[in-house]
Amino acid sequence: MTFTPHGKHLIAGQRRDGASEFTSSPAHGPVHSFAAGSAVEVDAAVAAAEEAFWSYGYSSSESHAAFLDAIAEEIEKRAEDITEIGCQESGLPEARLQGERGRTTGQLRLFAQHIRSGQHLDQRHDAALPDRAPLLRPDLKMMQRPIGPVAVFGASNFPLAFSTAGGDTAAALAAGCPVVVKGHEAHPGTGEIIADAIAAAAAACGVHPGVFSLVQGGGREVGAALVQHPLIRAVGFTGSLQAGRALFDLCAQRAEPIPFFGELGSVNPMFVLDAALEARAEAMAQGWAASLTMGAGQFCTNPGIVVMTEGEAAEKFTKAATSALSEQGAQTMLTEGIAAAYASGQDRLAGTEGVQVLCASESGAREALPALYRTTADAFLASPSLSEEVFGPLGILVTVKTEEQRQKIARELEGQLTCTVHMDDDDTDAARALMPVLERKAGRLLVNGFPTGVEVADSMVHGGPYPASTNFGATSVGTLSIRRFLRPVCYQNMPDALLPAV
Ligand code: NAP
Repeated sequence: MTFTPHGKHLIAGQRRDGASEFTSSPAHGPVHSFAAGSAVEVDAAVAAAEEAFWSYGYSSSESHAAFLDAIAEEIEKRAEDITEIGCQESGLPEARLQGERGRTTGQLRLFAQHIRSGQHLDQRHDAALPDRAPLLRPDLKMMQRPIGPVAVFGASNFPLAFSTAGGDTAAALAAGCPVVVKGHEAHPGTGEIIADAIAAAAAACGVHPGVFSLVQGGGREVGAALVQHPLIRAVGFTGSLQAGRALFDLCAQRAEPIPFFGELGSVNPMFVLDAALEARAEAMAQGWAASLTMGAGQFCTNPGIVVMTEGEAAEKFTKAATSALSEQGAQTMLTEGIAAAYASGQDRLAGTEGVQVLCASESGAREALPALYRTTADAFLASPSLSEEVFGPLGILVTVKTEEQRQKIARELEGQLTCTVHMDDDDTDAARALMPVLERKAGRLLVNGFPTGVEVADSMVHGGPYPASTNFGATSVGTLSIRRFLRPVCYQNMPDALLPAV
């Protein structure tokens, strides 16, 4: 079986050519041509989304839930094609594509279940107090309402779960907001199949076709036109700090600024406390190396920095980590650009004063081998660039001499998606001292685990203070992420007949 993409945009249910084309850059398999977007396609897609909002935004949660369930079914019908082209485009193994598909459909169904429960509406009621003196109280009802058309940027590192029908799209559609996706050029064929699945679900459910559009390629012109379009009400983005910041600034500069929910970089520090290090240095090092190299390290939750007390146990950890990482073979990276950024990140670290290279080797044009570095607390604190994310299977071991140094490193951290503590009972005091600091730094705090593998659940927070995200009050994973695309409206003395259908 060989899937051949049609190579067009999908705008309000219609396949559409672009004024120009681009070709895909698969890790293996055939190269295909795709329509490249421009401000013209963006305008058509956003206008259709606004039109769709007048029906979709005012229909019931049950009808939104039925649509989400139908999208999941349509994706499952196309499972084999998705896996085939997804593997070719991303270079990720088949099992990963299959697992990510399950996560994507599971996510859609979880949102369906969530909105059927009505929890997302957060309804409140303050009954009228007509006899209250000196002033009566009016009847006040509050509920969350959808905001309007949302722009979503597909991520390179999750061709399914953070892309066309990924978490941002699922959350926006669940909220009642139409979506315009800017497809990622790294996986246009995968995006096309998913877009067709969404269009088929919209047709089956009788939903306005403008509820979803995919604009392929077109680079920065498309991204900039999308976030600046006056009818777009919010943006969901996963990617680099540099791109996220540029798009965030464009959103802030609009005549009417809009929220930009960017999930950006993070080094996800892991603090290994003394008793735990003494008890199980080698096992922890092996677990860490496995987490660091999963998916060629191309996860925003990759635990890139380990902080531990210098000494014999730290040496054991270092030896075990070096040996586990040196044994790993090269892995294919998502794009040549990401592989090049990984190589230059290694050069930067190797050239930083006080940094020792423990393992690093040259890889191919789109391949990565793990890299490991060691430094001291003083050198780490002296070079803020050591705390910058290098996307790939790369780790830095930082040794501290005192509890004060450990605290200082924690206090100097920028915002993170996650912070992890490895501890035993005897580490409780040290952990308790660290926790209030880490809580100010990250959206998710872990004990005795590894941050890769983000559960899609009610309690999940995948976000954190800048630069982990551009909005510390939000999460991009889990049911709470729907709140990004809702806004509270208060209805005062409103007859029931005028309240929105929910
Ligand atoms: P990216 O460079 O941030 O690009 C993401 C999206 O933003 C793409 O659709 C890109 O479009 C668009 N874009 C970039 N700069 C823009 C600008 N100035 N104006 C308008 N649109 C813009 O991410 P990537 O291509 O996925 O990977 C590159 C790097 O991002 C990686 O090396 C890694 O450091 C980081 N990354 C981080 C995460 C994370 O979860 N934290 C995830 C993925 C990647 P075009 O490609 O068409 O320019």
